[in-house]
Amino acid sequence: MAVKVNDSCIGCGACESICDAVFSVDGVAQVNESAVADNMDCVKEAADSCPVGAIEVE
Ligand code: SF4
Repeated sequence: MAVKVNDSCIGCGACESICDAVFSVDGVAQVNESAVADNMDCVKEAADSCPVGAIEVE
């Protein structure tokens, strides 16, 4: 699985609140790739919760 945050991110912090092992927000969300595999449930939840659909899971 690859997780990417696209340019739509508005830095709201929701993804970090839901899945802080993977997402950290510093202006815009950053992805900790090495934590993705162990945290797919909350990655998907964060992607569903992102208000602008900026989290792309492939
Ligand atoms: S939830 Fe979406 S808009 Fe908010 S910080 Fe995360 S990626 Fe950006």
